[in-house]
Amino acid sequence: MSDAKSLLQELEGLVPECNARLDQASSLSDMEELRVDFLGRKGRLAKIMSGLPALSKEDKPVAGKKANEVKTALTDLIEGRQSQLERAAITESLSRFDPTMPGRTPNQGSLHPVTLVMDEICDVLIGLGFEVATGPEVENDWYNFEALNIPPEHPARDMQDTLYISDSILLRTHTSPLQIRTMMERTPPLAAIAPGKVYRRDSDITHTPMFHQIEGFLVGKDISMANLRGTITAFIHQLFGAETEVRFRPSFFPFTEPGAEVDISCVMCGGTGSIDGKACRVCKQTGWVEILGCGMLDPNVMKAVNYDTEIYSGFAFGVGIERVAMLKYGIGDLRMFFENDIRFLQQFS
Ligand SMILES: [Zn+2]
Repeated sequence: MSDAKSLLQELEGLVPECNARLDQASSLSDMEELRVDFLGRKGRLAKIMSGLPALSKEDKPVAGKKANEVKTALTDLIEGRQSQLERAAITESLSRFDPTMPGRTPNQGSLHPVTLVMDEICDVLIGLGFEVATGPEVENDWYNFEALNIPPEHPARDMQDTLYISDSILLRTHTSPLQIRTMMERTPPLAAIAPGKVYRRDSDITHTPMFHQIEGFLVGKDISMANLRGTITAFIHQLFGAETEVRFRPSFFPFTEPGAEVDISCVMCGGTGSIDGKACRVCKQTGWVEILGCGMLDPNVMKAVNYDTEIYSGFAFGVGIERVAMLKYGIGDLRMFFENDIRFLQQFS
């Protein structure tokens, strides 16, 4: 009997003891400690209750009932104090919140410099009457090489380091396959531009494995080199300003006959070859920078798409977008366009 008595006394003692400890608990972690101490699996209540099996049959229900009452009382006490502390914590954090402080402005996205230049070039050429053509970046050999007068074993294939997917499937090395695709779908007269990504196995300060080109081509009756010169000159004057000088140099591309490279007076030094008495690095003191390649469509290209060379002739030109962007913005390293450095890109927003 005395066992039951002391067990009940111990149980009754838990509530005032817990109450006293509550006053000292000042944080939520104190409260957790206290809860474990009193109500945990190895806590005070559990320890007292471990004496229950030893009690007599009559005492057991009395002690069990008391234990439940104490457990409820302890739980109420602890949870009550806990929610009090939680509310206090919220009030405290709100008191530190100043609604009058200026907010953090989220970074605003902007167009990539390559996109800006691409759009600008397209706008100029669309203004000159060209339509936009698009096509696949994964191309087959025929469109990328053979139809453009570059048969297998042709030395010109060495001019471009090609990324092959299989023997006959590759990543297009230029936007020129769009000439072939468009010409096969249409009958002249036609004038189109093909902007897009191209791929080559190349990576250094002036080469990246992926870059952007715009191909332009025009086919009709009596199209001559004069039409090509007029179109290119108008294009360059709109892009770089009417004061820009343009010169054509004979060059070779398998898909043109004749072919030419086009230089413009250096945009950095104004064609003088020097800036403030120092040699201009962009044009290496020559006063000229190369801007694009072009030429009259080779008769073999016309034949590949079944155009009658007795009736039709045409010209094509290809512009490297990054090249133009580097000149327009004075950027020295091509790779900067693709490093995604926010500090670099923000300058164009
Ligand atoms: Zn220069």
